[in-house]
Amino acid sequence: MNPIRVLQWGLGAMGSGMAKLTLDKPGLKIVAAVDGRPDYTGKDLGEVLGVGKQLGVKVTNRPEDVLNKHEVDIVIIATTSWLKDQIADLRKILNAGINCISIAEEMSDAEAQNPELARELDSLAKKNGVTILGTGVNPGFVLDLLVVALTGGSHNVERIEASRVNDLSPYGTTVMNSQGVGTTPEAFRAGIADGSIVGHVGFPESIRMISDALGLGVDRIEQTREPIISKVRRETPYVAVEPGMVAGCSHIGVGYRGSQEVIRLIHPQQIHPNLENQETGDYINIYGKPEIHMSIKPEIAGGIATEGIAVNMIPLVVAATPGLKRMIDLPVPAALMGESAYSRRN
Ligand code: NAD
Repeated sequence: MNPIRVLQWGLGAMGSGMAKLTLDKPGLKIVAAVDGRPDYTGKDLGEVLGVGKQLGVKVTNRPEDVLNKHEVDIVIIATTSWLKDQIADLRKILNAGINCISIAEEMSDAEAQNPELARELDSLAKKNGVTILGTGVNPGFVLDLLVVALTGGSHNVERIEASRVNDLSPYGTTVMNSQGVGTTPEAFRAGIADGSIVGHVGFPESIRMISDALGLGVDRIEQTREPIISKVRRETPYVAVEPGMVAGCSHIGVGYRGSQEVIRLIHPQQIHPNLENQETGDYINIYGKPEIHMSIKPEIAGGIATEGIAVNMIPLVVAATPGLKRMIDLPVPAALMGESAYSRRN
């Protein structure tokens, strides 16, 4: 079996984890690495990852030097949440004739919020004979693909309600700021109004994937974001929250068909939920025939699962027909534990 040759683009929290996981998989080989950080440029990837050995791959900030389709089968890009910020890089990858997996939240269903860019990516990928996929733990898995898969035996689905209750404590400053953690309730509301606090990125994408996969005909999506106000002191290495301040954001996305609610996704994210006896978990409730209730406690670990799903999708993306794909368009993801996992049929 010839290993699939991988270029890792973005070596932050997620990208470096994906690179380490790729190193562990005999069916995959890291052949190039790109990151814009000046302190990484020119260093051996092994040094940047801290794996205690040289890998013979120099990190570059010049992607054009390594985007060679004769040497790279697929790029995994982990740089930003926003498609508009990633589109220039995605164009370079597709125009080089190389497959791509992005974990940008907006790429999980690019058409949901960026229909023109989605059409452009689809035609660029088809023109160059390659596949591009958006994925991640959420959006990309827990609150969309898993929901869709659970309806696989259903005769009828009237309404879906799913929630992911998670702990933000392991994350850094960017996440704290985008969720409004450590602000006052007034500053939180001002941040929502001016767009500096966004909560979760991905509800329009997840709702659209579920609706499209089942044919639920959602024609309107509404979102609400409320501060989770702490009753106790909570602290992480990056933020301290006094009682009365904001410990997180409770974000809800609802999909309607006409006036009828058909999909409700609930995602309260906060630091140290345990300090107020809040258990974490993933919960999916499907109302119809049959009624289905799934609960996973604690929640599927976000960072581990994002790294895992991006890497596990590599063989499926390389084997897929050309074009822009969503997780609902490809075979189900599976851990890459042995040779047969690398040759599944599409
Ligand atoms: P991070 O900030 O730790 O890392 C980003 C890295 O990309 C940095 O090293 C930065 O130098 C590099 N970078 C940024 N723009 C670049 C460019 N144009 N060219 C080269 N390098 C560039 O972020 P992270 O925690 O690794 O997450 C990456 C993105 O993935 C975030 O936007 C995050 O929200 C998203 N994400 C999505 C999911 C999902 O479920 N879909 C899950 C986790 C993270």
